[in-house]
Amino acid sequence: MSIKCSDFGGMRVGAIIKTSYDTGSYLVQRISEVCTCPSYTASLNGDDSPSKPHYHFTLKDLDKRGDTSWLNGYAPDADGVWRSVWNDKDYLIIDVGGVVSDYIDETGTQLDMF
Ligand SMILES: [Zn+2]
Repeated sequence: MSIKCSDFGGMRVGAIIKTSYDTGSYLVQRISEVCTCPSYTASLNGDDSPSKPHYHFTLKDLDKRGDTSWLNGYAPDADGVWRSVWNDKDYLIIDVGGVVSDYIDETGTQLDMF
């Protein structure tokens, strides 16, 4: 199963995003398949029950010299707003920077598009 470009409030590889808690901007490099892994913090307390379905993002941190970063455990709500399934007050925002549709990484490899 893969994510369709038209789904999820415009989230896609190449999108520029930042979070509501002032991290980013990030370039989305990879979006995982849907996942139900347990909350890390809950698992520390012995709770390994599956989480609400969510995705994991691999990102290039545009504010930190392009370092690789990750955002874990996010899913779009009914309005297409990406929220943490583990922390209701955190959510992703599509930045005004829009989509880098022709993004090519340093190795010259075209990123996978869905
Ligand atoms: Zn997961």
